[in-house]
Amino acid sequence: MYDVTIIGKGPAGISASLYTKRAGLNTLIIGKDGGALEGAEKIENYYGLDKALTGKELILRGIRQAEELNIEIITDEVVDIKNENCYKILTRKNTYESKTLILATGSNRKTPKISRTNRI
Ligand SMILES: Cc1cc2nc3c(=O)[nH]c(=O)nc-3n(C[C@H](O)[C@H](O)[C@H](O)COP(=O)(O)OP(=O)(O)OC[C@H]3O[C@@H](n4cnc5c(N)ncnc54)[C@H](O)[C@@H]3O)c2cc1C
Repeated sequence: MYDVTIIGKGPAGISASLYTKRAGLNTLIIGKDGGALEGAEKIENYYGLDKALTGKELILRGIRQAEELNIEIITDEVVDIKNENCYKILTRKNTYESKTLILATGSNRKTPKISRTNRI
């Protein structure tokens, strides 16, 4: 039984885990992939970055940071969550039990329905 399970291993999920772990909570992260940053070719508008780097590199840095704190990170897809006496998190490969849950599953980008000729 985990104290906290975080669904999503992008910047939000990894950042949350740094705090829960430091608070002494037994933390599990489940993410199916690297999230939105995987598609970012060049990140240069982020606090603390003195040189541009790719989204994939930034993901790896975040994962390494969490691993340094011995936070457990699993690559798997969550397919269902049941709230009984605790949260039962069903993935494609396994079931995990957790007292609390943090959803950090990101969001989809939306393109405005404006034709290119009308854009400024
Ligand atoms: C092309 C592109 C370029 C970008 N460039 C920049 C930039 O230059 N600078 C910048 O600051 N930001 C940039 N961004 C935005 C940045 O990527 C996002 O703000 C950031 O990734 C959001 O982090 P997040 O953790 O909320 O979500 P995400 O990074 O999207 O992470 C979501 C996580 O949830 C997981 N997940 C979702 N559903 C499930 C499920 N059912 N089971 C298990 N796991 C699940 C995913 O696998 C992933 O690990 C860019 C985004 C894109 C797409």
